[in-house]
Amino acid sequence: MSHVIWLFSDAGNTDGQAAALLEEHGMKGAFAWATNAFTHPGRETLPWAEAQEIAAHGHEVHSHGMRHDSWSRYTETEIARACRATRQWWANRLGRDCSACKIIGPPYYSTATIRRIALETGYTYTLSNWLTPADSVELPAGYEYQWITCYHGEGPSATLDALDWASKSAYRAVICSLHRLRDEPAYDKEVRWSDFRAVIDHAVELGLTANGVLGLA
Ligand SMILES: [Zn+2]
Repeated sequence: MSHVIWLFSDAGNTDGQAAALLEEHGMKGAFAWATNAFTHPGRETLPWAEAQEIAAHGHEVHSHGMRHDSWSRYTETEIARACRATRQWWANRLGRDCSACKIIGPPYYSTATIRRIALETGYTYTLSNWLTPADSVELPAGYEYQWITCYHGEGPSATLDALDWASKSAYRAVICSLHRLRDEPAYDKEVRWSDFRAVIDHAVELGLTANGVLGLA
């Protein structure tokens, strides 16, 4: 395994610092953003100007839906409408060729039905932002993957071990879910900055590359 996809989600206001830290190590991140983060920003939301800058620096943006609601109860028509709407939103702001028009990670998780409809409505790849179900990731053909997290609730040593293991495995890529970074995590799916730094250093030691999902294509 030689490639790691650093996956951040939900447009936290530390995404810009995370992107800069990755750049210092010659790496790029993947950022799954729901559009309502920018149309209805909260106190700790990434400002739109910074989001544009992250995209302009070549980091990967993934469509993460419009409202960050679960699509599990959507009809197929509603899924198709949501896919088209979010794709149009990103096309209008970052251009038709942007990564957010190619990759969608629906909020919470994906399903085989969501995946099929996403591909039918113009997306190239789909992935889940959650660990399950395992079949919810569509990466470039031939690339097997393993999913790990760096969540505070699971401890950083588990992530370091997972990188060690994955680097020796037959998997071609690891998706490392980082959600959002904090100096002091408020709940178990946040990641401590110091842990993230340790994980990046370890990835550098292992010689891993990182430039998103499209970097695998
Ligand atoms: Zn999310």
